Amino acid sequence: MPINKFALFAVLLFSFLSSFIYFWAARAAHADNDADPLPIFDAHIHYSHDAWEAFSPDDAIRRLRAVGVKRAMVSSSSDEGTRRLYQTDPTFVVPSLRPYRKRGELDSWMHDESVIPYIKERLQKYRYAAIGELHVDGEEANTPVMREVVRLAKQHGLMLHVHGDAQAISFIFEQDPDARILWAHAGFEFAETARELMVLHDNLWADLSFRYDIFPNGTIMPEWEQLLLDHADRFLLGIDTYTPQRWLQVNEVMQWQRELLAALPADAARKIAYENGERITRQFDGK
Ligand SMILES: [Zn+2]
Repeated sequence: MPINKFALFAVLLFSFLSSFIYFWAARAAHADNDADPLPIFDAHIHYSHDAWEAFSPDDAIRRLRAVGVKRAMVSSSSDEGTRRLYQTDPTFVVPSLRPYRKRGELDSWMHDESVIPYIKERLQKYRYAAIGELHVDGEEANTPVMREVVRLAKQHGLMLHVHGDAQAISFIFEQDPDARILWAHAGFEFAETARELMVLHDNLWADLSFRYDIFPNGTIMPEWEQLLLDHADRFLLGIDTYTPQRWLQVNEVMQWQRELLAALPADAARKIAYENGERITRQFDGK
């Protein structure tokens, strides 16, 4: 019967068209995801002397760009590594001045007075966004050398990138309540401790490099999820290429970071991926 045939044809046509539309819509959405992974501001890159031979500056930057890093805060032992990367691509590198002239000074530098003339000389010669990454725990933050570093950061309007415990962070804020601190690895402290300090200090940000403990097996620890949501404007990512070998692991570290971002709401993910880094280094860009 013609009417039934027509109805059957209409149903078939409709189902064909809708699956066709669904297929293309899904494809387009998928293509969007592939084409547009979030850009990443990496707050924790080192290009230290023992990596220079294996990875040229071009190669190092290429490896980071390949996984979506658009910009990176770089500090190196010695600072020469940071200069090499910066000269290779000044649009990519935000330089931070590390007080170490070679690997192995991280336990002793805060007692070494020769660090101060070195830092002063570099600060006169080049522009930086920060001093660090430097290591201080507890009372080490109150040595005369560290006090002078805090004072120099203030004088030059620079951030401090500090790998230290919560007590060290508190001591630095006692010395300069207006200090701007990027807290490496959030001090490997508990969420509760990090939250207390962030509530107390508006100028405290933290990078999540090496914090595999907060996002194990694809699930964010609930106390960290809450902290990242409550203070989404305070956290940044970082691969932390602290040894030459780490340059070979850039892909897998980035995969972990992207899984963490994907587990967060889109606006928090965007802030942590890129916007916070861009905002806190704006001063360096003269904006
Ligand atoms: Zn580091």
